Amino acid sequence: MDYKYSIEKFLEHKGWKKSKCRWCNTDFFYKKYNNSCGSFNCEGGYKFLNYPSRKDFLETGIIRKIIKKNFEKIHFFEENPILIKRNNERTLFASAAGQIYDKLIYEREHFEDILRKIVFQPVIRLQDHEQIADLEGISSSFITAGSEIWNSPIKEHHQSLDKWFDIFSELGILVSNFNLKYKPDINYWQDKKVPSESLKINYRGLEIGIANFFYDINITNKKTTFSDINIGLERLAWAINKTDSYFDSIGPIECILTCTQEKIDALRTLTLMAAAGVVPGTKNHGQKFRILSQKLSTPLDIFPFYELVDYYYNQWSQYIDLTYDNKRTLKIILTEVERMKKQSLIDKYKLNIDFKKDFTEMLKNQKLLRRIRGKTRWD
Ligand SMILES: [Zn+2]
Repeated sequence: MDYKYSIEKFLEHKGWKKSKCRWCNTDFFYKKYNNSCGSFNCEGGYKFLNYPSRKDFLETGIIRKIIKKNFEKIHFFEENPILIKRNNERTLFASAAGQIYDKLIYEREHFEDILRKIVFQPVIRLQDHEQIADLEGISSSFITAGSEIWNSPIKEHHQSLDKWFDIFSELGILVSNFNLKYKPDINYWQDKKVPSESLKINYRGLEIGIANFFYDINITNKKTTFSDINIGLERLAWAINKTDSYFDSIGPIECILTCTQEKIDALRTLTLMAAAGVVPGTKNHGQKFRILSQKLSTPLDIFPFYELVDYYYNQWSQYIDLTYDNKRTLKIILTEVERMKKQSLIDKYKLNIDFKKDFTEMLKNQKLLRRIRGKTRWD
């Protein structure tokens, strides 16, 4: 079956027209004419922020309820997210909602009928984390809301995409301001080579999600299809609320105003990692933990660890069952951050430190160790 043709026919039927982006030359679909595909680069920034915003602020929890309600109406069931820490899999951490079907994809389980699921999956993606300090709209962890259909007829994929547009309208975003950027692909899932037809859902500079249709997936004795539409919940919240910062939807607001986004983001992701059982180490999961901890380990930097870990722990626990409680989570993070602070003091100032003493004790001792011109104590 020609899925590209089918998707184009469906969009045309729904009033979308096809064009080529003036900047990147990619095919895209529009309702209200735009000469760009709507991506950040081609649009020249987050142009959606120029649209008027709604009067009341919508939190991600409320948006989640609206998404769930809409999909349950068309017989989707909510599925629990997969565990954050992956072992022997494609990625170190959960990184997409579609991973709920990994058992079917890798044939550890079989299911003949159509499966329709909605999942709110916390994910960790570290590839863009270096950009967080410079660019809005990026975070190293977030919730992806996925409508996932296994053995999906193409018609059900269309219906699912249509349902998302209903939800965007209900949430107060004009669908005519979206552009759908066409992106065919070949994906390698272990030994399986899987083609896909995808549409990036762009809202005037902000990519809020992607609608993937995977087909010709080789499963013993047959080929199957998989509809996988992922929407970033925090990005959707930003598109709806149009606040100055993407992090305004993540909170807590009093900290957003005083702490850097890079640090807030690192701590939010570390909270998820530590609570999910990741321990600092030199390779794999533990190494990633250390890379993020580094961002919080400037010596003498004052940062509200206690309040923030508590806040983010509560936030994540609304979506996923966590391995450790908030106290243990905080302890794992603080132990690593303080170890790094001590280490950087040693590296930088060659300070003589007794590791058995705690950090505060150590600083007191340093005051006594250093003197300036033999008279004034340094503090
Ligand atoms: Zn473009």
